[in-house]
Amino acid sequence: MSKDAVSHDVIVIGGGASGLLCAISAGYRGLRVLVLEQGPKVGLKILVSGGGRCNFTNMFADPREHYLSENPNFCISAMKRFSPSDFIQMVETAGIDYHEKKLGQLFCDNSAKEIVAMLLEQCAYAGVEIRLRQRVETITPEEEQGFCVGTKDKQYRAGKVVIASGGLSMPRIASDLAFRTARDLGLKLHAPRAALVPLTWNSSDKLTYEVLSGISAEVVASCGGVSFRENLLFTHRGLSGPAILQISSFWREGRPVEINLLPDIDAATWLVAERESHPQQRLVALLKAHLPKRLVDLMSGSWFEDQKIGSFSPPELAAIGEQLNAWSFMPGGSEGYRTAEVTLGGIDTDEVSSKTFELKRVPGLFAIGEALDVTGWLGGYNFQWAWASGWCCGQHL
Ligand SMILES: Cc1cc2nc3c(=O)[nH]c(=O)nc-3n(C[C@H](O)[C@H](O)[C@H](O)COP(=O)(O)OP(=O)(O)OC[C@H]3O[C@@H](n4cnc5c(N)ncnc54)[C@H](O)[C@@H]3O)c2cc1C
Repeated sequence: MSKDAVSHDVIVIGGGASGLLCAISAGYRGLRVLVLEQGPKVGLKILVSGGGRCNFTNMFADPREHYLSENPNFCISAMKRFSPSDFIQMVETAGIDYHEKKLGQLFCDNSAKEIVAMLLEQCAYAGVEIRLRQRVETITPEEEQGFCVGTKDKQYRAGKVVIASGGLSMPRIASDLAFRTARDLGLKLHAPRAALVPLTWNSSDKLTYEVLSGISAEVVASCGGVSFRENLLFTHRGLSGPAILQISSFWREGRPVEINLLPDIDAATWLVAERESHPQQRLVALLKAHLPKRLVDLMSGSWFEDQKIGSFSPPELAAIGEQLNAWSFMPGGSEGYRTAEVTLGGIDTDEVSSKTFELKRVPGLFAIGEALDVTGWLGGYNFQWAWASGWCCGQHL
């Protein structure tokens, strides 16, 4: 096994969003920083994010509102010290054109490649060395001080090491290094689970609803006391779209997700009133004015009979209306890490300083980004956490 001849002050494991910002931040402070990235390129997730346009931040990111963690206060400090406007300034200085899509979500006008190019340029200015195809397998504390970082055929040494190896989504480019290392060191870990992920049909719903694949509608999806008003998409496998990705972070096995298909209408009251005013119209025709036609066709026959609205009794219409406002969908599961955008859970934040990101029980070892038990909503919040934790850590190495 060859040993690393060059000595570095800091090794950052993972050339993703948090690792690159951390390396830049530390490099500008004059530290000799080495980034070890297992892939053939850095920033692979940045490149595929936002449909290739990278939703790189959210202007309204609020650490108190948009993040899930056992300790909701943990992310506040870093998010204040490196805010969306700090990253937007970097983007503007690099001359990258961007736009707000909706709800404060900022995307590149052209390509996510521009964000990666900007980060690589900053790494070069900051004197950061990047080595690709270096999959780290072990992080071992040295006897005196510092750490030995081992790949299959190399050992690297540095006084300080930053774990920026992310979570488990996109298994092709992920590794469980952060979680495995935390376990080996006896640190508390919150069981990782796939989040921002499509939910799948249970076996009986699959037979009924898979024909609706491709249909979308604006709904309110609710679970665990949280609701999101966004688009929902029917797929062959289950339900997807932003409403479902968002609620998936709050869903747990055995819990139903409630879906309001007519969020602007009290459907029970409306249908009963229509019965009085237009008893001859067919219920199907009435609903097709408000819902996708294929969805209504499926409902007629499985949710209700296709008949004139006057042929239903008021209690029958009230029950149909209630189902339209609160369809209870019991997922069979989720699509898992293959299509998940993030990993919920991770290293317990009590193990980490919210100021420096150093592990309290392992001085010299730091953890940032998705490896920690901090998960953002859909909409640019996860990158903002990665940038903020990376930058702030780099200031304290
Ligand atoms: C398809 C997809 C789209 C997304 N879109 C968005 C979006 O538009 N907006 C948003 O805010 N968030 C988005 N996210 C989430 C966002 O990408 C992550 O939250 C963010 O990248 C986490 O940053 P990180 O630095 O912690 O981890 P990552 O960016 O995942 O970086 C970890 C890096 O470490 C490397 N690595 C892992 N293990 C090892 C090892 N053992 N040795 C060496 N290197 C290793 C990986 O190859 C990777 O480069 C998306 C995620 C996915 C999967």
